[in-house]
Amino acid sequence: MYEQVDYHIHTLYLKCANETMTVPALVAKAEELGLKSIAVTDHLNAPQFLDEHRKIKRDLAEIESDLEIIFGVEVNVIDQDTGEVSINQQQIDELGFELVIGGVHSSYFDTPDPKAIIDTQHRLMMAVVQNPLVDILVHPWWFPRREFDAGTVAWLTDLALLPDDYVTELGEAAAATGTAIEANGSAILVNDTYGERFVADYKEYLKKLADCGALISISSDAHDIGRMETTQVAGRAVRDAGITPDQLWTASQLK
Ligand SMILES: [Zn+2]
Ligand SMILES: [Zn+2]
Repeated sequence: MYEQVDYHIHTLYLKCANETMTVPALVAKAEELGLKSIAVTDHLNAPQFLDEHRKIKRDLAEIESDLEIIFGVEVNVIDQDTGEVSINQQQIDELGFELVIGGVHSSYFDTPDPKAIIDTQHRLMMAVVQNPLVDILVHPWWFPRREFDAGTVAWLTDLALLPDDYVTELGEAAAATGTAIEANGSAILVNDTYGERFVADYKEYLKKLADCGALISISSDAHDIGRMETTQVAGRAVRDAGITPDQLWTASQLK
């Protein structure tokens, strides 16, 4: 089961992923990889993009596959004070999204201030986990490459500065709300912006969260068809970390 799911996949429609990510192609790729359950979760950063999601829904309706396929969406934190995300209940109902995944996509800093950046990320991740609209917190501690290049988060070569209390607090909140936390292949585990030391710490981090009761969701976050296999890298990392099958999120957990 570690290597048979992918609960975070993009499509060509929102223009973040490339043209290889048509809905039929990504479903065929999932079948070829031997996956059993997937979620298509393209970005919704603003309401005007809902129409693109209608195209995804239309394409999914035409697919014939034995795969379990969930129609989902990835949302972003849009208010750095409250942690509010870029979707509301009315939009979820209108499109019929079955799964909402979401998280932070910026450090909100332009100077390398590790403590302030960690505090901000923790506060916003807590808000996402406690948001009843969100099923899965995506890619904790992911930052855009430009923020590494600019030096803002270049100090993030491991998780040594992350207080244990923060890990426990997040894991316990996730357990209490039933919001899962993501193990993401492309964004984190095979992303060469992060080094080996970071990845080793990250596996321990996921295990600690799971041991606080958080469910772990495995995904590729593919924006190119060739990256879909990274969900299996994520799955193996989760298994290597000692996370047990009962600690994994599956579609049966949908609220
Ligand atoms: Zn993301
Ligand atoms: Zn994504």
